[in-house]
Amino acid sequence: MDRVIVYNFDHDMIQALADYILQKYEKSSNDFSRVAVVFGGKRPALFLKKKLAEKIKTSFYPPQCFSIEEFVNYLVSKKESFSIATDLELCYWLYQISKEKIPHILITRDKFYQFLPWAREILSFIQELDKERVDDGTLTTIEASAEIGYEVPEDINVLLESIVTLRKEFHHRMEDKRSFSSGYVHLKASQLISELEFSEFDNIIFCGFYYLHKTELDIFKTLVQREKAVLMFQKDEELWPVLEKLGKELSFSIPSSPKPKNKPRISILRGFDIHSQAGLVREVIKRDKLNFNETVIVLPQAQSLLPLLSELSPILTDFNVSLGYPVNRSTISRLIETIFKTQMTKNGEKYYARDYLKVITHPLIKNLKIHDEPAVARVLVHKIEESLLGIEEADFSGSIFISLDEIEKFRPLYPRVQTTLNRIGITIEPERLEEVLKELHRVVFRIWEGLTNFEQLALVLDEFLRILLERSLIYKSPLDTRVIEKIYEIKNELETMDFKKEIFPQDELFKIFIDKLENEMISFLGSPLKGLQILGLYETRALSFKNVIIIDVNETVLPKLRVYEPLIPRQIMLELGLNRLEVEEEIQRYHFRRLIKSACSVYLIYDDRPDKERSRFIEEIIWEEERLQKKLNVVTQLRAGYQVEVREKKAEIEKSEFILQGLRKFTFSPSSLDIYLNCPLQFYYQYLLKVKENENLLEEPQAVDIGKFLHKLLEDSFAEFIGTRPKITKKFKEKFFKEFESRFEHEYQRRMGAEAFLVKYIMEHRLQRFLDNEHRRSEDIKRIISLEDDSIGGKIKFEIGSFDFICKIDRLEELQDGSLLIIDYKTGGSISAPQRLSKLQEMEMTREQIKKRIHSFQLPLYYYFVKKRFPDCRINAALYSLRNIEFTQLFKKEDMGSEQDVINICLKALEFIISEILNPAVPFVPDDSDPRICRNCSYFYLCK
Ligand code: SF4
Repeated sequence: MDRVIVYNFDHDMIQALADYILQKYEKSSNDFSRVAVVFGGKRPALFLKKKLAEKIKTSFYPPQCFSIEEFVNYLVSKKESFSIATDLELCYWLYQISKEKIPHILITRDKFYQFLPWAREILSFIQELDKERVDDGTLTTIEASAEIGYEVPEDINVLLESIVTLRKEFHHRMEDKRSFSSGYVHLKASQLISELEFSEFDNIIFCGFYYLHKTELDIFKTLVQREKAVLMFQKDEELWPVLEKLGKELSFSIPSSPKPKNKPRISILRGFDIHSQAGLVREVIKRDKLNFNETVIVLPQAQSLLPLLSELSPILTDFNVSLGYPVNRSTISRLIETIFKTQMTKNGEKYYARDYLKVITHPLIKNLKIHDEPAVARVLVHKIEESLLGIEEADFSGSIFISLDEIEKFRPLYPRVQTTLNRIGITIEPERLEEVLKELHRVVFRIWEGLTNFEQLALVLDEFLRILLERSLIYKSPLDTRVIEKIYEIKNELETMDFKKEIFPQDELFKIFIDKLENEMISFLGSPLKGLQILGLYETRALSFKNVIIIDVNETVLPKLRVYEPLIPRQIMLELGLNRLEVEEEIQRYHFRRLIKSACSVYLIYDDRPDKERSRFIEEIIWEEERLQKKLNVVTQLRAGYQVEVREKKAEIEKSEFILQGLRKFTFSPSSLDIYLNCPLQFYYQYLLKVKENENLLEEPQAVDIGKFLHKLLEDSFAEFIGTRPKITKKFKEKFFKEFESRFEHEYQRRMGAEAFLVKYIMEHRLQRFLDNEHRRSEDIKRIISLEDDSIGGKIKFEIGSFDFICKIDRLEELQDGSLLIIDYKTGGSISAPQRLSKLQEMEMTREQIKKRIHSFQLPLYYYFVKKRFPDCRINAALYSLRNIEFTQLFKKEDMGSEQDVINICLKALEFIISEILNPAVPFVPDDSDPRICRNCSYFYLCK
């Protein structure tokens, strides 16, 4: 019997598997239950059973199907009884163990809610160690190196120094509780596999795997050696290194696949946002009359789901969605967060009026059917709102804090509500209205008061969700119904956790629960075997569809690679043999290629706005096609029929007399000149039209906000050193980071959600390096002259006239050798100063050339004005990157002594740019040559 079978990508794996089972195990009784089939996920089992039913056409006992997770659980359960621990429990155990064994790691995060994001990262690291069966010997080497110190933040070194102990204790804790993590079950399964008997199965077929953890590999290997397993893979003629390595580790080579029989027809389509991409999906389904039962739409990112469903709703009949959708994006999750916030902002018995209103005016709450008529609660809520805002007179109008009793006892409220209700034909007594109000208050405020443990929180959640289901319209939304089911599941988890009775301050309890919601996903229900399938990429593993539509085929989405560095640096992960991150791109590429090559028609849709990049996966397909046909642009012609050309020629703005008048009085700043250099149209929008970016405090902060935040923090903290040499003492550092903590908490924590922890961590790490560098530099500094000084500036006289300039210099220092240094902090990624003199001398006077060679007028202008103020001093200027703590000097080493030559060229270029700005014949043109600039441009939609 062949133990390793390889199919080409163009094979329908499920079809091939069904044929194989029927051929090898056919019995007159149609009993296949002595065959086990293991897939990567749960979904293929349903397709296999369906395929067998179609072929057998009568009743049969299906094979026993498992996902790999279910299979390892099954293996361990043959020897031991255990349960799977919840993530919150596992994190709490890690917290307790860290407290006992490495308390110094908790120094700045001693509360569980503060430690939770760390615990999640540590948990994922230990899970990885377990799944990859990293032994204590290898880990001890890492511990020893950590004692010497890796080039990583100190607390990571501390963590690594104790990682063996931490992991051992964690394993003991799981054993004591008989409750395991998924990683630990993998580890145990790989240790137990050689002792296990499988008399219940004739064969175990592992189907459609690609990357395997070492523990999984152990299981495969043992079962193959015992002639119990059959392995089925898919590949094509390409080299797939992960698969080759797997073959070597399993001690046999994976045979090459037969030649493909089919070649899919691939169409590449472009949209300009998610709605237009969804529109394209609808159009191709309609135009090519795609059969829903043979079609899959792959969504690499969950946020595209709702726009897609709303666009498809007119044509959708049967469909099934199965992809992770983040719970914290749902209405219910946000409502619960608002209720928590209202409890946290209470002042004694009184509620903060603004938060109180946010809760009761929430559409789900004000429409609760507390009385037979939902209008009763709605009118009541609106009358309270009017009274609080002072539109209707009340004792508590305009109060900042308000108690529930005050509102309930305010008698004039009820006749007002009565009158309005009478007008719409509803009669109700004031006493009944008071009851309705008290019930409303109970449901959203009183039951949430004074909670101290998770058991109580679970009870309250139970009641609240039940009321929502029974008395609101939530059941009409399939998405929200799934979220409610998920929160019920979480509630059940809370009730069974071993620390459910542990006392927590209420705000911590809420923060932990919110963190939990931020890490939860839901999948939708529907028939996975009928209708249009809407899946994530990994949900398509081992499945084939005649028609494949993939949207969001853009870089950073597909492949989706982790943006933030994991807590444990990559170098250490590699030293430990944990290379999953390294092959992540290859894994996604494999599943992408397998899916499209098994289809007949493929539609790849991407977002082609300038700030987006087409995925490398599309580039590969285009290149292959061009190579095959030995000519360029072959794919472009193929897609011409489908293409939606959305963008018209971009607007150019002519200079009217009115605009020119404004320009003649204009005061230039380095930023305005740099913006003109990069894009004249952006300059027009920002400085002449003065269109302001909409600031939404609820949205995540942008890079520019973080820049402002750091500038202000550095200005305020270093103010004490003006006139003296900065001394970066331990005390200064403590004060600095305390201030950082409090400002970060105030400005970002709530706006950023789960990612705040990593952003804060990165900022802290960079600031730490900045202060270390400042400590080293302080030897060379005589005094700080000024910080954020905006008094420097004035007129510059050119041949074309005199113009006003304003400048704000982040920091001016006098160095020990008497020279001055102008510093401009940079928080962003790429920073550039003018090129060296020899390059500047080659520059032609065009905006494009000036942009390329001078990059920015900031440092030359700062130099010019500081030199005017301190004519006898030697001066240099530098960009100081807070990201990598590097200086980029205005005058390079080779130009020392020729400073004035550099400045003269810069001034000439400046005069050219100003004359172009004032030239009526040169319109403000858009310059979209740099997608990074367009990506961050606030006027992106205006210039379409
Ligand atoms: S989006 Fe690009 S081209 Fe348009 S105004 Fe902004 S920077 Fe200029």
